[in-house]
Amino acid sequence: MSPKRIPLSEPTLGGNEWRYVKECLDSGWVSSAGPWVERFEQAVAKATGAAHAVAIVNGTAALHLALELSGVRRGDLVLLPNLTFVAPANAALYCGADPVFIDCDPATWQLDDAKLERYLREECRIKGGVCVEKRSGRVVRAMIPVHLLGLACEIEKIAALARRYKVALVEDACEGLGVRFNKRHVGTFGKLGVLSFNGNKIATTGGGGMILTSDDKLARRTRYLSNQAKDDPIEYFHRERGYNYRLTSLQAALGLAQLEQLPGFVAGKRRVAALYEKAFAGSEIVLMPRPPKNEPSFWLYTVLLPERIGLAGRKRVIAGLEGQGIGARPLWHHMHELPAFRRCRAYEIEHSPSLYRRAVSLPSGPALSRADVARVAGALLKLTRGK
Ligand SMILES: *Cc1c(COP(=O)(O)O)cnc(C)c1O
Repeated sequence: MSPKRIPLSEPTLGGNEWRYVKECLDSGWVSSAGPWVERFEQAVAKATGAAHAVAIVNGTAALHLALELSGVRRGDLVLLPNLTFVAPANAALYCGADPVFIDCDPATWQLDDAKLERYLREECRIKGGVCVEKRSGRVVRAMIPVHLLGLACEIEKIAALARRYKVALVEDACEGLGVRFNKRHVGTFGKLGVLSFNGNKIATTGGGGMILTSDDKLARRTRYLSNQAKDDPIEYFHRERGYNYRLTSLQAALGLAQLEQLPGFVAGKRRVAALYEKAFAGSEIVLMPRPPKNEPSFWLYTVLLPERIGLAGRKRVIAGLEGQGIGARPLWHHMHELPAFRRCRAYEIEHSPSLYRRAVSLPSGPALSRADVARVAGALLKLTRGK
């Protein structure tokens, strides 16, 4: 008999999920109206320390809306890390803007703040109160630093650059629920931050998202635009284009039960990370970084294979793990060579392609046992040894 499959990450639904979803159904409030969405928003605001949390149908829609709230328009540029899940790059395209991809720091895997600074200082100038890229004359309207894999990027330096160069800051904290930088929750360093509650995230509503903001006016405007820009609660009167980007009560009920368990999920993932660190100590497997000032969640525990294994070898290693019933995934393809974004500018790309070639994400469920981690680590070491 083959041993039990160890999934990459699956939702942990061991709390009040059934109870709250049933209560929600019994209450009859299944759309976005009623008390559930507000209760979920308050729980998220409390967990993150955000002044306001506005529930949105998913993280990608929340990023789109956050860019629109930041004034991003057709022809603008939006700065992004070259290593990221595709959602923030797509959100820029929805606004008619183009991403500019900036390289990642090989020590932290996150957006390289030194290169971001150099791009802004050497490639841009401030003209009429906005940041303009010199070679294209296009306005750099926003930047989306992404907190990757349950680690935080250098968000204080990045937020300072955004202020200095008059570029709006939208933090993509979709992978960062439960992560703090310098004791502050990610997604709360600027005016706008975004969370995701997709099925693969640390806490899930099936699909869902949230906009965090410190600004009362922006919070009101987020609600307005996400609910069809209704100017009158009774009459169908609209001054602007709006969206139906609301989360439903059923999802909020699920999310409420998940948030109650968040501290346990974070502790579980930290425990799993520590087990991997021990298992790979002294081997040629490069551990996931522990960047400075981080209180990480290690949402998806990821390691680097030795460079000599190469892209084809990395694909074989992942297939080999899968063949043994161990869920494993590569990191996202570096953005600047994807056909969807080939016309976009890429700045000083050196390290993100090697992260793509070498990285393998490993099973990261918060309830993984010591024996599960030992099985994963043993299999990976065997697959890479002597290759
Ligand atoms: C999951 C994720 C999103 C948004 O995801 P949705 O599935 O739309 O909720 C955005 N950015 C990053 C980095 C993500 O990992």
